Amino acid sequence: MFRTGFRCIVANFVLGQRSMSQSSLAGQIAIVTASTDGIGLATAQALGQRGAHVVVSSRHQANVDRAVALLQSGNIDVTGTTCNVGKSEDREKLVQKTVERFGGVDILVSNAAVNPFFGNIMDSTEAVWDKILDVNVKSAFLLTKLVVPHMQKRGGGSVVFVSSVTGYQPVQTLGPYSVSKTALLGLTKALAPELAQSNIRVNCVAPGVIKTQFSMPEASYITGETITATGGMSCRL
Ligand code: NAP
Repeated sequence: MFRTGFRCIVANFVLGQRSMSQSSLAGQIAIVTASTDGIGLATAQALGQRGAHVVVSSRHQANVDRAVALLQSGNIDVTGTTCNVGKSEDREKLVQKTVERFGGVDILVSNAAVNPFFGNIMDSTEAVWDKILDVNVKSAFLLTKLVVPHMQKRGGGSVVFVSSVTGYQPVQTLGPYSVSKTALLGLTKALAPELAQSNIRVNCVAPGVIKTQFSMPEASYITGETITATGGMSCRL
């Protein structure tokens, strides 16, 4: 249920102008990062079931192979590659392989995140901050920067960042991670007006605990927004 609800939110952001019942992403090319498990895998599956060609990735080849096999067993047109989003050469390889295999990029779901630290924020180190900001924030921007020229060539696109309820209300033991998720809300608002000129929408989802399938708003006019899916937890910034 959790995965189904969340993946529908992401798919709806991507679809834009069409209702989910009429939806088709046939011919669209989608990159989903950190997509060999959890929300990323469920999102890749949702996009693939709507006809998108999907590129899955994560750090470990065995996980990529498993995810590709799973999605192929559901008749999804999928390819996979290893990509640690914190590494520039891996980000470049991911986009390059996507373009080589499918001919372009229409959709980026930037889903990867790490949290190497639990505790009081005052005990967090520079290394912790570097890791969290590199993977959770900088990679989201840098991947966007890599795919935008390809989206422009195709006349537009859709970028979705995966934030968290902790971006609105930091969890005390997850200070640096929470701040990184707040940064994604800002990144969404910073990018959306600039990329609107290229017909590229930029949105963000902020999951908490999802127990029911989320409703699906018409999304063609949505850009620069964060949709929360938090089971009633208050989210204000
Ligand atoms: P998950 O089930 O733990 O899956 C993690 C995935 O990320 C795996 O495929 C893993 O594969 C990959 N991965 C880890 N580090 C990576 C890296 N540096 N580069 C590329 N791939 C990497 O995670 P999840 O719970 O679905 O979380 C996905 C996103 O949702 C994250 O941004 C998280 O912050 C956000 N979120 C989750 C929840 C929740 O309740 N689960 C709530 C709020 C927000 P490898 O090990 O092969 O790399």
